[in-house]
Amino acid sequence: KLGNETAKAELGRAAWKLFHTTFARFPDKPTTDESTALQSYVYLFQRLYPCGECAEHFGTILDKFPPQVSSRSVAAAWGCHVHNEVNKSLNKELFDCSNIGDFYDCGCAEDEAGVGG
Ligand code: FAD
Repeated sequence: KLGNETAKAELGRAAWKLFHTTFARFPDKPTTDESTALQSYVYLFQRLYPCGECAEHFGTILDKFPPQVSSRSVAAAWGCHVHNEVNKSLNKELFDCSNIGDFYDCGCAEDEAGVGG
């Protein structure tokens, strides 16, 4: 049981890292196609999330707070908010979402304008 909890927490930390870093790298002015892609990504992330109990719970959060995908800052703020919803339900400390802008760095800023690295 302890092993399960440890694995679930590790999966969660890795998943949140990818989730928030994806939003932090989303375009400031996305095309309709890019916004649609991010919205689909969020719903598939939920649907296929490997911890079934977590996925089910996150689904109810998405019902209440549908993905906001109109720009990088809006998407990042939304991601922070829904993670805080999970934090609340697990009695964890809430993250200050006004700091989300600088927190997630992929180490790929140099690739900003690059295609194919
Ligand atoms: P995590 O919550 O994993 O956060 C990792 C780091 O992200 C933190 O250390 C902090 O630096 C930063 N962070 C914290 N809050 C925010 C925020 N709001 N915005 C941006 N960054 C933030 N576990 C369960 O036991 N039951 C569940 O139902 C459950 N549902 C989950 C659903 C999803 C979609 C995901 C991705 C995970 C879920 N988890 C669930 C796992 C849980 O959320 C944690 O990942 C796990 O408990 C480890 O917690 P942690 O305290 O290390 O920090």
